[in-house]
Amino acid sequence: MFTARDFHLNEDEYEAIQKWAGNHNCKCRVGDRPSRSCCGGEISVVFTPTSIGTAISAVCVCGEKLELDNL
Ligand SMILES: [Zn+2]
Repeated sequence: MFTARDFHLNEDEYEAIQKWAGNHNCKCRVGDRPSRSCCGGEISVVFTPTSIGTAISAVCVCGEKLELDNL
């Protein structure tokens, strides 16, 4: 199981996601629908609790994904 504490970002993780959100090769589209504000608030962060810790990834609306190497 997981606890509420598994769902947080430390400062390094937060910075890595911020940096990636602004720097990745964003396609600015979702399928054939143009994104409204690509890379300006279209980021989702996914927490996946595992037996060795919580894996964290971030997904942009353009489909790009960042896997944080935090385990
Ligand atoms: Zn993007």
